[in-house]
Amino acid sequence: MKLSQLFTKTRREAPRDEEAISAQLLIRAGFVHKQMAGAYVMLPLGLKTLNNIIGIIREEMNTAGGQELTMTALQPPEPWQKSGRWDDKEVDVWFRTHLHNKTELGLGFTHEEPLTALMAENVNSHRDLPQYVYQFQNKFRNEVRAKSGIMRTREFIMKDLYSFSRDQKQHDEYYEKMKDVYTKVFQRLGIGEHTFTTFASGGSFSKYSHEFQTVIEAGEDVIYLDRDKKLAVNEEVYNDEVLNDLGLDKDKLEKVNASEVGNIFTLGTKFSEPLKLQYTDQDGSVKPVVMGSYGIGPARVMGVLIELFHDDKGMIWPEAIAPAKAYIVRIGEDEDVIAAADELYQKLQGQGVEVLYDDRDIPAGAKFADADLMGIPTRLTVSPKTLKENSVEVKLRSETDSKLISTEETLKLFNK
Ligand code: ATP
Ligand code: MG
Repeated sequence: MKLSQLFTKTRREAPRDEEAISAQLLIRAGFVHKQMAGAYVMLPLGLKTLNNIIGIIREEMNTAGGQELTMTALQPPEPWQKSGRWDDKEVDVWFRTHLHNKTELGLGFTHEEPLTALMAENVNSHRDLPQYVYQFQNKFRNEVRAKSGIMRTREFIMKDLYSFSRDQKQHDEYYEKMKDVYTKVFQRLGIGEHTFTTFASGGSFSKYSHEFQTVIEAGEDVIYLDRDKKLAVNEEVYNDEVLNDLGLDKDKLEKVNASEVGNIFTLGTKFSEPLKLQYTDQDGSVKPVVMGSYGIGPARVMGVLIELFHDDKGMIWPEAIAPAKAYIVRIGEDEDVIAAADELYQKLQGQGVEVLYDDRDIPAGAKFADADLMGIPTRLTVSPKTLKENSVEVKLRSETDSKLISTEETLKLFNK
């Protein structure tokens, strides 16, 4: 992508109405646009970043046996009336709308009900189970607070996977496996070191659920953390009895703020019973399917990554997530500089490397500032000075020193 062609602009001033540093930097860098409180447009660079996050999660969900689909945002009342969640007294985040004929609809804030109803039309026998189904899909929630930028919005993409098992034992095995899958996902997303499996409230079918909480100052949740054991307890279930039960030592726990990037939940037969998702077992008996749900918020992960990795100049993206691997700064308008920078750009693109090419006629300082603000992992400067040495100045975003390297060696840096 040539920056002269990118329609978005960077800004020096942080927006006044954003508290979270992640939101301030995303807006300044032209990654997102605030449509209104709790609703953000993903601009081209922001969308590339988000899609890299989504791509990693998708790979791991497929490896874990997931089948991807997309449910509808528009929801008819019936399945939700069966589970009791259509009622505003049960669920206070519904956005509702109407058809012309006055039929009431809602915008899905989650998808247990319609997916359970869908599975009921497809699952009959024990041979049809287990099944694992997931999506990346927009949820709508009329959240009370929206002060954490893209980490809590009223319209957001969720990765939600649902497991459908024959019995508790089959469910428990998958649930345990998903703990490991999630641990791997958050490692690959670059937040593994800061993310802790956290015991949280469970509901009627299990004592606990598990949240994946990333420790950041701006986090909305409070957890009690045992760093050695890499385990934590959400304050909502924190008490002596629970600590005893989990074998955690009160004196060793650290009270920290954290953001819930994902969670896994045992649903039991809470939805399969009212929505009649059942199967005929080997012995001919009819049984309800045992369910679990497994969520991740990709945009929340994106915000959390910035909260963790930034400096006073801007964002610092991990290689796997960055919207581009390299940022070419072209200094000056000399013909041979333009030719050399163009060639570097083309060769990198030819190698399949995502590159931002700053070919704009603006001061070098402004280009360096934008490269830093956008947090692109490697900066490549081509100038009359580097050209004289037949080389490129290479600087990593995470380091302060730069080196002059031959063009050939520079290209090899991206040969993976
Ligand atoms: P929270 O307690 O933070 O409101 P939740 O318990 O409502 O989260 P789930 O309904 O289980 O979360 O959603 C699964 C995942 O979706 C969460 O772990 C989080 O990463 C993400 N998520 C939830 N609500 C939002 C939101 N309003 N904006 C962005 N991401 C969200
Ligand atoms: Mg919530």
